[in-house]
Amino acid sequence: MCELKACGGMGFKNLKQFNLALLTKQGWGLQTDQNSLINKVLKAKYFPSYDFVEAKIGCNPSYTWRSIMAVQHVVKEVSELIDSSSTSWKASVIDILFLSHEAKMIKSIPLSSSAYSLAVSLSHTIDRGASLDVGLVRRFWKKIWSLPVPHKTRHFVWRACREALPTKTNLAQRKVVLDDTCEACGLMAESTGHVLWGCVKAQEAWSCSKLMVIIDWVDEEKVARMVTIAWALWFNRNEIRLGGARKTGKDVVRWATHYLEEYWAANESELSAPVVLERSVSWIPPRTNWFKIHVDGGVFASQKAAGLGVIIRDDRG
Ligand SMILES: [Zn+2]
Repeated sequence: MCELKACGGMGFKNLKQFNLALLTKQGWGLQTDQNSLINKVLKAKYFPSYDFVEAKIGCNPSYTWRSIMAVQHVVKEVSELIDSSSTSWKASVIDILFLSHEAKMIKSIPLSSSAYSLAVSLSHTIDRGASLDVGLVRRFWKKIWSLPVPHKTRHFVWRACREALPTKTNLAQRKVVLDDTCEACGLMAESTGHVLWGCVKAQEAWSCSKLMVIIDWVDEEKVARMVTIAWALWFNRNEIRLGGARKTGKDVVRWATHYLEEYWAANESELSAPVVLERSVSWIPPRTNWFKIHVDGGVFASQKAAGLGVIIRDDRG
């Protein structure tokens, strides 16, 4: 099992990639969509007279702004590959910077497609190096398997990262179903990434959760909350398929938070149960001509009786 867990290298790439992709999408929006409300608010506060890629973190930045700025370099790298006047790829630059198959893949991404798929594809390419670090991958899995979440949640993360969830995309690949369209939005194929990050409902959940970015994996509580929300999204998707109620993204977050906190509370009471320490006590004789007296008593309610015991011992016991 250890062997298997340690081999889950793909997972790191997937989780981190989606996390960054989601954020990159926001950053990309700031760079390209001048009219959105969030752009207007953030621009007025942090980069009033220039573009997002030139913005500085500034003093006293908000959580949202700090998170978005964490992927500014990706947006910058992407925008340098695009000729904004003709809205087309700078093919010559891409050919120099990337290996031929990567360059081919990037150039095949239509620029009119959503910023999301663009960000996913590019952050995948840019992030690829990290997934090759075996030590990093091992640490990632060690972290996942020690998270304070129920075992089934950890197992879910494992399956999601190994692309082993029975999503419609996976089922279609195995020819179990013909149509792989997401039933929640009806817009895209239902891949793992789509259910957990890309679908409208997932995006609503992540924006409610305020857990949009986990750049480092140090904060165990945040990571636990994040994987529980992902699991809850998947859980509700299955509930709906069995005729259960469709939760909103907000409801999923509320439900997942409650579920996890109950789990923590149950575990805490288990941990804080009184622990009886066993002590080995040995009798030490008194000095010569001294006596040691041991006294104990007991009340036996059912027999309406009480007892008293006294032991008096000298230095020879
Ligand atoms: Zn969907």
